Amino acid sequence: RRREDIAHAHEPATTGDGQHVSVFANIGGVKDASQVIGVGGEGVGLVRSEFLFMDRSAAPSEDEQTESYATILQALGPDHHVIIRTLDVGGDKPLPYLPIPREDNPFLGERGIRVGLDRPEVLRTQLRALLRASAGYHLQVMFPMIATVQELRDAKAMLAEESAALGIAPFPCGIMVEVPAVAVMAHAFAAEADFFSIGTNDLTQYTLAMDRGHPKLAPKVDALNPAVLRLIAQTIEGAHAHQRLVGICGGIAGDPHAVPILVGLGIDELSVSLPVIPTVKAQIRRLNAATCRDLAQRALTCATAEEVRALVPEIED
Ligand code: PEP
Ligand code: MG
Repeated sequence: RRREDIAHAHEPATTGDGQHVSVFANIGGVKDASQVIGVGGEGVGLVRSEFLFMDRSAAPSEDEQTESYATILQALGPDHHVIIRTLDVGGDKPLPYLPIPREDNPFLGERGIRVGLDRPEVLRTQLRALLRASAGYHLQVMFPMIATVQELRDAKAMLAEESAALGIAPFPCGIMVEVPAVAVMAHAFAAEADFFSIGTNDLTQYTLAMDRGHPKLAPKVDALNPAVLRLIAQTIEGAHAHQRLVGICGGIAGDPHAVPILVGLGIDELSVSLPVIPTVKAQIRRLNAATCRDLAQRALTCATAEEVRALVPEIED
């Protein structure tokens, strides 16, 4: 089956009854970007821009960043969407040249957009580089770990200032949905963000208050927990009420148990690692969206993640 999936990787992921889902790639650097189209990726749903900042003693310069973003955009060409996430460090990802004072709870401390707002020059430099690389491409930029509407406003204000200063039109600007508060307030965020990308790795960790990397808790940190599914459903509803597209770039997007449920909840885009793209597209082509909608409604009324997983019929490998 896997060989067959790869042979059909360039066909769109449309269900038997005509619901299209974009299948995008999560990438961690310039090298991955050149492989996206070849494996059937229809765009890039998450560039973890941390790759540019890791394993070095100083932050990359504006010119250096511009060149890296331009290389990624060139690899995808002018017809494909590329979503680059601004620097997401702190928590479990420290940087030697951007020291964050010791915290008792780093996952609840300075991480993601909080770092960028606290050290505006880091975020402003990145935004300038992204603006300079954007001309002629479908670049979209999103902010990680947003928790409040004010953070989004502050980050967008920085973008507007840098865009005006450079005389380059701003790109569409979205947010990662990783904090339960954002899912609950999806309508308010959708009024001010151009798109959503749900980061189920962190959303699950924060919903269940279980460390995503904790060896003992790992089996329980399941994004198919109905509490997380309800937040995903609320996020999609809020986005669609404002005609915003919503994707998922957390690990659950590539889980064969989750795909039919996410399709049934009305997800617009799934962003997964490169090797999984052909499999996810093939699975979607075998689905019926109306059946998936029924399945999703039943999943939302389950009591446990195990019950949700048991609902999804026969997963072929
Ligand atoms: C997520 O939290 O689901 C996500 C995609 O971001 P990261 O895994 O990089 O924290
Ligand atoms: Mg995350």
